Amino acid sequence: MLTGKHVVIMGGDARQLEIIRKLSTLDAKISLIGFEQLDDGFIGVTKRKVDELEWDAVDAILLPISGTDGKGEVETIFSNEKIRLTDEQVKKTPKHCILYSGISNHYLDACVNKTKRKLVKLMERDDVAIYNSIPTAEGTVMMAIQHTDFTIHGANVAVLGLGRVGMSVARTFAVLGAKVKVAARDSHHLARITEMGLIPIHTSSLITELKDVDLCINTIPAPIITANVLAEMPTHCFIIDLASKPGGTDFRYAEKRGMKALLAPGLPGIVAPKTAGKILADVLTKLLDEEK
Ligand code: NAP
Repeated sequence: MLTGKHVVIMGGDARQLEIIRKLSTLDAKISLIGFEQLDDGFIGVTKRKVDELEWDAVDAILLPISGTDGKGEVETIFSNEKIRLTDEQVKKTPKHCILYSGISNHYLDACVNKTKRKLVKLMERDDVAIYNSIPTAEGTVMMAIQHTDFTIHGANVAVLGLGRVGMSVARTFAVLGAKVKVAARDSHHLARITEMGLIPIHTSSLITELKDVDLCINTIPAPIITANVLAEMPTHCFIIDLASKPGGTDFRYAEKRGMKALLAPGLPGIVAPKTAGKILADVLTKLLDEEK
């Protein structure tokens, strides 16, 4: 149980509802900031304004998966008001207060450094990233179906990267009957791709290896589908870029060449907010419990 824990949830999307539900069941005290438009009545939950909060009694601050933007602003789908996390707010919290977000940026890193607080980046955890790759792969299938006029079965599909997302995506498209090539740079990844019964390609050979692809799914967070690579790809190829913003595709050149290429961030929150929220809620409650 999390009795006596005061958790502040600042902004977020539908995934936060599962977290609120679980923390409320475990008897935590929850303050919501940026949730004016939320109707659900959760027990032990109070909606607050930033300036009304007793920051000196806060044990944990949960930010959205995106963390903050470069100016500290926090995204929320439940309010029209602008919400900001500031150094001043964090400074007022007790020293043991921990911040949780999906990812970080310069602003958030600087904030926790200046205030000497700990930041837990949930999406950097292998367990969260692997569980999260399941709804991500399903969302990628949804996008492929919505944006193409051919079946996945029998299509030539390239998956770039064999990390946590790349592995799930490659396996999912292979199971659906696609002919899947996977690009990686590390020899043990190339060996694993072969073991999975898929076609290994080296990321340095994309110019020659993507000439026949119908669908290209990028998971590498680096400029990898460059203009030189795009120039050799068939123009009918649909590119789904899953990598975090700004993605790994030269979108300007893809458009110039008449190719359809989409950056597809946050698929778990779009296609399966309940499951994605539950993944986060389970890990978060375990971490909060360990901090007791
Ligand atoms: P990961 O496990 O770190 O995998 C990243 C892969 O990219 C690794 O195989 C890595 O290879 C490769 N890579 C990185 N930089 C490279 C470079 N310069 N050249 C060649 N290969 C490179 O990350 P992940 O958890 O799979 O996530 C992948 C991306 O998807 C991230 O940007 C993440 O934020 C994003 N994501 C998006 C969604 C969505 O809904 N769109 C959902 C979840 C995650 P090495 O091992 O050789 O470095």
